[in-house]
Amino acid sequence: MSATPSPCHLFTPGPVKIPSYVLEIGARQTPYFRNAEFSATLLECESRLLEFAGAPSGSRAVFLTASGTGAMEAAVANLFAAEDPVVVVNGGGFGQRFADICRHHGVAVREHLATGENLAVTAALDGLLPAAALLVNAHETTTGVLYDLDALAAFCRAHGLFFVVDAISMFLTDPLDMAAQGIDALIVSSQKGLALPPGLAMVILSPLAQARLRPGAAPYYFDLAAYLADGARGQTPFTPAVTIVLQLLARLRAIASIGLTAEIERARRVAAYFRDAVPRWPLAFGSDFMPNAMTALTPTDGRKACDIVAALERRYGIVVAPNGGALRDTVFRVAHMGDQHEQDIDVLIEAFDDYYEVAA
Ligand SMILES: *Cc1c(COP(=O)(O)O)cnc(C)c1O
Repeated sequence: MSATPSPCHLFTPGPVKIPSYVLEIGARQTPYFRNAEFSATLLECESRLLEFAGAPSGSRAVFLTASGTGAMEAAVANLFAAEDPVVVVNGGGFGQRFADICRHHGVAVREHLATGENLAVTAALDGLLPAAALLVNAHETTTGVLYDLDALAAFCRAHGLFFVVDAISMFLTDPLDMAAQGIDALIVSSQKGLALPPGLAMVILSPLAQARLRPGAAPYYFDLAAYLADGARGQTPFTPAVTIVLQLLARLRAIASIGLTAEIERARRVAAYFRDAVPRWPLAFGSDFMPNAMTALTPTDGRKACDIVAALERRYGIVVAPNGGALRDTVFRVAHMGDQHEQDIDVLIEAFDDYYEVAA
C-alpha cells in the first residue's frame, strides 16, 4: 500500500464535509430494499424533503441514482418538447449546462447571459419572451452569484412561465420556498448542502409539473412518470442508491431535530465568520450577491487563483475549489455547505495567514 493518508479539509462546493453519523451508515452492509422497511424509509425521505422545500400540497419527489446533472436532464427531458421555447439564465458553467441539456434534447433555448447581476430587476429577460418556461440555477456555483428567486418568481407569474429551479448548491443553506415562489420543479442533489456522498439526485414536482410530464418521451432510465408510479409505494423502478437513501433519512431527521432555520443559520454564521477575516489577505469577493453556501474570491495581488488553490492543498491539506475556463486565474471558491463549523474555518484562516505571512 503506497497511498499516503493526508489530513484533508474540504471546502469545495461538493463533495462537502460529511457528518460522522452519516459516515457510520456508509460503513454498514447495504440492505435489501424491495421490502416494507425500505419503502417506509423512502416515503419518509420524500415527505421531509417536500417540507424543507416548502413544496405545495400534492407535490412529489423522485429519487434518481445519478449526480445532480442527471436530475437536470431528467427535468428537461420530461417537461419540455421541441416546440417549447425556454429561457435559460446562463451566468456560468451550470447555466451553460442547462442550455446544453436543452439543446441536446431539441428544446429551443433563449439564453440570458448573466454577468454577475442577481436579476432582482428582470427587464433584461423581457426580450426573450414569449416562452414556455424559465430555467435557472438558483446559485450559479461557478461564480458564486445567488439569483433573486423572488424577482424571478414574479417574472414567471406575470408571464405565465413554468418555473424550473436547480437549487443544488443552495438547498438547506439559503432560504427557498417552492409554494411562495411558485417553483414548479425543484432539483436537488446529495453531495452539496445535504452533505451526503454523491450519487443521489432528486426532482421535486408540484402538481402542475406532474401534469406536464410527458411519459415515454424521456430516456427510459429517466422516465419520471415511472418513478412517480413506483414512488407512491416507496419504491423506485431500478435499484436506488440504497445506502445514500439511508444516509439521507438520517440527515433529514437530524436537520428536522434542530430545525431547518437553524441549519440555514449555521451556514450564514460560518460564511460570515470566514468573510470577516478576508480583508486581512489580498483577496476580494468575487460576487456581489453571495449565498450562505459559498464565498467566491479573487486575488488582488497578481497571484493566480489556481496557484493559491494548489498551494493550500500542498502545504496545508486544505481543498478549496478552483475554476475552469476563463475564471481559472481569477476566481477560486470556498464552500460553507455540509458539516462545517467555526473550528473548520479557524483551520482555513490559519492557513491563509501563513500563506500570506500575515501575523495572526
Ligand atoms: C453541483 C451542481 C450541479 C450538479 O453537478 P453534478 O456534478 O452532476 O453533481 C448542478 N447544478 C449546480 C448549480 C451545482 O452546483
